[in-house]
Amino acid sequence: MNVPNLKQARIRTNKEVEFKYDVTGIDDKLKIGNKTFFIKTYGCQMNEHDSENIRAMMLEMNFKEAKDMDSADIIILNTCAIRENAHNKVFGMLGRIKHRKEMDSGVITCLCGCMAQEENVVEEIRNKYKWVDIIFGTHNIHELPKMLYDVIKNNEKRIEVLSIEGDVIENMHYARDNKYKAWVNIMYGCDKFCTYCIVPYTRGKQRSRKKEDIINEVNDLIKDGVLEITLLGQNVNAYGKDLYDDYGMEDLLLDVSKTEIKRIRFVTSHPWDFTDKMIDAIASCDNVMPFVHLPVQSGSNDILKKMGRRYTKEEYIELFNKIKSRVKDVSITTDIIVGFPNESDEDFKATLDLVDYCKFDLAYTFIYSKREGTPASLIKDEIPLKVKQERLEVLNEHINKYALENNKKLIGKTVKVLVENISEKDPNQVCGYTEGQKLVNISGGADLIGKIVDVYISDAKTWSLDGIIK
Ligand code: SF4
Repeated sequence: MNVPNLKQARIRTNKEVEFKYDVTGIDDKLKIGNKTFFIKTYGCQMNEHDSENIRAMMLEMNFKEAKDMDSADIIILNTCAIRENAHNKVFGMLGRIKHRKEMDSGVITCLCGCMAQEENVVEEIRNKYKWVDIIFGTHNIHELPKMLYDVIKNNEKRIEVLSIEGDVIENMHYARDNKYKAWVNIMYGCDKFCTYCIVPYTRGKQRSRKKEDIINEVNDLIKDGVLEITLLGQNVNAYGKDLYDDYGMEDLLLDVSKTEIKRIRFVTSHPWDFTDKMIDAIASCDNVMPFVHLPVQSGSNDILKKMGRRYTKEEYIELFNKIKSRVKDVSITTDIIVGFPNESDEDFKATLDLVDYCKFDLAYTFIYSKREGTPASLIKDEIPLKVKQERLEVLNEHINKYALENNKKLIGKTVKVLVENISEKDPNQVCGYTEGQKLVNISGGADLIGKIVDVYISDAKTWSLDGIIK
């Protein structure tokens, strides 16, 4: 048994990262089959992508995917630790599974992802949810088949959470939902240690994948018919810094753009590492999409300092303006936290001012969530929750106003859309995303799916556009 240790997870040493190429295969012995599984994923794209890896392993073990949790023999909760809300949802889900377990003791429950890396979570599960069969963390996902074998064949429970800096596991398999779009991990972990964030503790130190492994993966995806990739990392702009003397994100973007892939995106960018060369790479490569997600978190320099974000409001605005002026038709989105401990009315006003200046295409807004073990969790907070909720409402009004304004600017224009699905709202429509990552609903049939088409924008809403095939 290995339980998490947050103190240990914080440690960063000079230990060289190991690149492991031969730990992902599944022996015939492990291809047990005869069971169904259901994966419930919470949180960010990194978790979604991990779930694609888990799904591939489950299918290779000859298990079948169930339609819902209630009909599955094996339930896997891939959890998120970034906010209390996601945390509470997982415990609510465990309550639901408990009822099922009482009626069917054969149901196997696994909990993984970032919450599994938290000491208090594992402690609580060991005390109150003893029936959970497997807990594993973010560093040893590839070991799930062996753990499941132990539960099914040997009736053992497994808790295997490693609080380590981490390695790079190569040759992972992914079972993707979307045939035309794929995530490609370019790095793991984070060394920024923003004071509110648990990720550097749950995902280990920053480890870049080798450029040739990334390019090989992209070429394989192209052969599989993938049209769009999103290069994924907690802070992609820092790509390569831990691995190469003179090769960074801008070089990787240029190299990936030389492949035949039609569309390249990347998330997430920390403003601190965003270089001029990167802006040039986005501006000069036709297949790098004009879309940048650039989390600002606050418009107050005092709060930014307390968050440990390493840039000022002025530096952020300078970068924002540079990207806007050099990348044609670029969309810029952001993340904002309101109610960081002791955020004053003036601090909040500074955030609103920044939003009014930048007029973001979209923003993901959140109330600060205290994460145990982070430096910010030790600050005594005097701001009532009600005030924070009111601030969030005001902020969202500003954000929505600019989202609609930006969308309206596209009315009457023709844009390129990668059609990826039947529209959720109307089965007679399909939907897809523009180069600037805006959702468009288009009248048309399933034959358009998987194609990049010219679409005339006829109407705009806050969260989506309506379009007609040209
Ligand atoms: S850059 Fe900051 S917010 Fe982003 S994952 Fe790293 S520590 Fe968390």
